Amino acid sequence: MKVLWLFAHPEPASLNAALRDEGLRALRELGHEYVQSDLYEMKWDPIVREIASFDPDVVAEQEKISWADTLVVQFPLWWYGMPAILKGWFDRVFVKGFGYGLKDENGRVLRYGEGMLAGKRAMIVTTAGGRASSLGPRGVNGNLEQLLFPLQHGTFWYTGMAALPPFVVYSADRTDAAEFTAAASGLRERLARLETTEPIPYRAQNGGDYDSDLVLLPHLAAGRTDLDVHQR
Ligand code: FAD
Repeated sequence: MKVLWLFAHPEPASLNAALRDEGLRALRELGHEYVQSDLYEMKWDPIVREIASFDPDVVAEQEKISWADTLVVQFPLWWYGMPAILKGWFDRVFVKGFGYGLKDENGRVLRYGEGMLAGKRAMIVTTAGGRASSLGPRGVNGNLEQLLFPLQHGTFWYTGMAALPPFVVYSADRTDAAEFTAAASGLRERLARLETTEPIPYRAQNGGDYDSDLVLLPHLAAGRTDLDVHQR
């Protein structure tokens, strides 16, 4: 496979950097090709100064995405989302004419399952300070699977990419050597199944599940309004 590994942590000696190194080693051993965008190391400029500007640094990132069939997006969970430098990468790189803006011959907008990046896969690798229970379905921090919805559904799936279930290290601030070994081994195992892992079964916008106002048909997930209604 051809993997673009996006990495957003400022410290080369961090837990995240050590996991990234393990991940890239695993990809090499599995015979996959990869390129990396280490955003802090690249001094990536996250600020949008002009909407949808195809600056050379943006085009270089778009070329990496076009080359790749899989994106791995790695970041520490900061304020229940991604670090600003990574958000700025998506804001500047996934612009109309590259990430979205495609229509079919009938003028129908192609997004959520269809789109410019359809056929590619994307997987989040993240670390969280919170423990797994506190980021679970009834945890005080909110369900991490749902906290990641804007990236997994609103960005990956919106542009056509299949979102693989995320790889998460919980209680990351208390990681000891044994926990690191377990996390690294879990990551290697997930990377070994990159090609075969079933994506999150999000519904396609144009697959018949939504009405003309883009509202889920009433008989599907009847009576529910949580974000999981958008999964089959
Ligand atoms: P590091 O600080 O680098 O390391 C964490 C631990 O792992 C340390 O104990 C270190 O000794 C150990 N370690 C590092 N490398 C290795 C190695 N190679 N082998 C063994 N052990 C190692 N958490 C939430 O849950 N929700 C939030 O909303 C949230 N918001 C945050 C906002 C900010 C601005 C910050 C700074 C933190 C936030 N956190 C939050 C916590 C954050 O998610 C964690 O601090 C982060 O995920 C830990 O990853 P790291 O790479 O920075 O870890």
